[in-house]
Amino acid sequence: MAKKQFKTESKKLLDMMINSIYTHKEIFLREIISNASDAIDKLCYRSLTDENVGMERSDFRIRITVDKENRIITVSDNGIGMTKEELENNLGVIARSGSLNFKDGLDEEEQENAAIDIIGQFGVGFYSSFMVADRVTVITKGYGSDEAFKWESTGVDGYTITSAEKETVGTDVIMHIKEDDETEKYSTYLENWKLMMLIKKYSDYVRWPIVMDVERSQMVELDEKDENGNPKTKMENITVEETVNSMIPIWQRSRQEATDEECIAFYKEKYHDQDDPLAVIRVNAEGLISYRALLFIPSKTPQQFYTRESEPGLELYSSGVMIMDKCTELLPDCYAFARGVVDSPDLTLNISRETLQHDRQLKLIATNLGKKMKNELVKLMRNDREKYEKFYNAFGMVLRAGVISEYGDKIDDIKDLLLYNVSESKLVSFREYVDAMPAEQEKIYYACGDSVRRLLSLPQAELLKEKGYEILCMTSQFDEYLVDTLKRYDDKPFCNIATEDLGLETEEQKKETEQKEAEAKDLLAFVKETLGDAIERAVLSHKLVSGAVCLSTEGGVTLEMERYFRSMPGAPEHLKAIRILEFNAEHPAYKAMAEAFAADDKEKAAKIAKILHAQALLMAGETLDDPAEYSEMVCSLI
Ligand code: ADP
Repeated sequence: MAKKQFKTESKKLLDMMINSIYTHKEIFLREIISNASDAIDKLCYRSLTDENVGMERSDFRIRITVDKENRIITVSDNGIGMTKEELENNLGVIARSGSLNFKDGLDEEEQENAAIDIIGQFGVGFYSSFMVADRVTVITKGYGSDEAFKWESTGVDGYTITSAEKETVGTDVIMHIKEDDETEKYSTYLENWKLMMLIKKYSDYVRWPIVMDVERSQMVELDEKDENGNPKTKMENITVEETVNSMIPIWQRSRQEATDEECIAFYKEKYHDQDDPLAVIRVNAEGLISYRALLFIPSKTPQQFYTRESEPGLELYSSGVMIMDKCTELLPDCYAFARGVVDSPDLTLNISRETLQHDRQLKLIATNLGKKMKNELVKLMRNDREKYEKFYNAFGMVLRAGVISEYGDKIDDIKDLLLYNVSESKLVSFREYVDAMPAEQEKIYYACGDSVRRLLSLPQAELLKEKGYEILCMTSQFDEYLVDTLKRYDDKPFCNIATEDLGLETEEQKKETEQKEAEAKDLLAFVKETLGDAIERAVLSHKLVSGAVCLSTEGGVTLEMERYFRSMPGAPEHLKAIRILEFNAEHPAYKAMAEAFAADDKEKAAKIAKILHAQALLMAGETLDDPAEYSEMVCSLI
């Protein structure tokens, strides 16, 4: 039988795993048991609708046997098994999830570290068996198939698949344990106590019994009698089959029965996260619908979280039986970062992605869990700011994006969870912003753009800074929409410093500006004429302190939005910002322009107008159509 080759990437990882110095080799058992448990889930689920399965819930189990002499550990399950094709497809490729992404150019040590990282974070399922075994044999019979097959491999050089004998449906994973070497005493894995310890540690909540033969001493009665006429006894070693795991799902236990530490251990094991979650949320609801939920807020963004591969959703159980593994209906979208399980006895098992007949019930759960999440996050923001900001860095984008898909009072929920930079290092919530406003400040000032530093150095910001007013720097594409929807916070209107009147002028100042503008009418008309369609008009500004110019916009479309539309192919032409060029009449550059204009040196006046316009564009985060021309103009004036 010719050996088949593993896919290239699999081969690389496998090789590293076999030779790896990864210290947690013991996770192999967890991985193999998880696969067995999943396989049983599948067959059990099938048995609900398919009478031919012929199994009761109580028939399912995972059995672990050890043959110390021959150095063999076998994990057997009576789950769904695999057909020949499934064997080929499932065990020929490693890490199909794409968790493995070797970058070219990494040297060997870096690659090894990358592999260790992957093993640590995700486990690598079935292949982790090769960390402790030098030969792995899988004998399996798929449900509905009358043939059994044997898959065998000694590592990187490939695998064989041959016919095999197996009476019942299910899978045996037979691991031939490596000889001890200086780095690892593999023989310990052949000890019962070690295996039991590993099962307790990693697989205690596996829903199916994990059984092992264990030696127990037992008192046995002998035929002989003692002097009182009672039968004599002696201790005898007997072998009994015992269930090692406790099985009761942790979320079914009360706070007394399962501590936060235990929940955290459960989280880390289940979601392959080395770090503690930021928060553990337990819900035990009774009422219209009863359910228990155990939710976690991870402390960092999982790999691929912001990609299309990411699959959010909670696990949905009905009385301990899993019915859906990624149920997104259980939480509002803005909390898609949460992980965990929901278990409700009120749901029936025939729920499926296609037929969410329980839509109404799920919505109810989602609403309640959404509230819980919000309260928990508000609490975290108040009581442990550092943790909250860590959370916000990782998942703030999900909250903000939630604003787009949510509506009504849900936005109201989210708004108190948002933070914005008011300096490069300081983040504040709307609440905190408003509470810190000086008494005379009437508006909530904000600016939109992609970098905090740039927003804070906008010429329009200077006047506000002088007055001690803070500016919320909004750097995500969802923020403008959010502000547009909210309009006010705590009765204070939002004010975009790039587009709106800051509202800081007195009547007198307004009159003064109007007068100056009337005087400069011809010059401003000249600027407009010079710049043509690039601006709607030029005006004298009352927002500027030391800056010479700024660009503001009018109407519904801001520069941010325009940039966004520009990035979308086929967006309509009319979605353009109406641009106003604002001059600081006190600035020497403006004065130089005015002098040139007055002296009828139109060429020079036009040059200065163009330069100032270019500067305003740059400060607003735009690019110049012709940077060379700009550079030439500046040089010629110097
Ligand atoms: P993962 O479990 O993360 O999908 P694995 O490499 O551990 O990755 O397993 C690959 C696939 O092989 C599983 O998804 C499953 O389809 C199949 N498999 C592994 N072990 C068993 C088993 N004991 N019974 C049935 N199928 C199994």
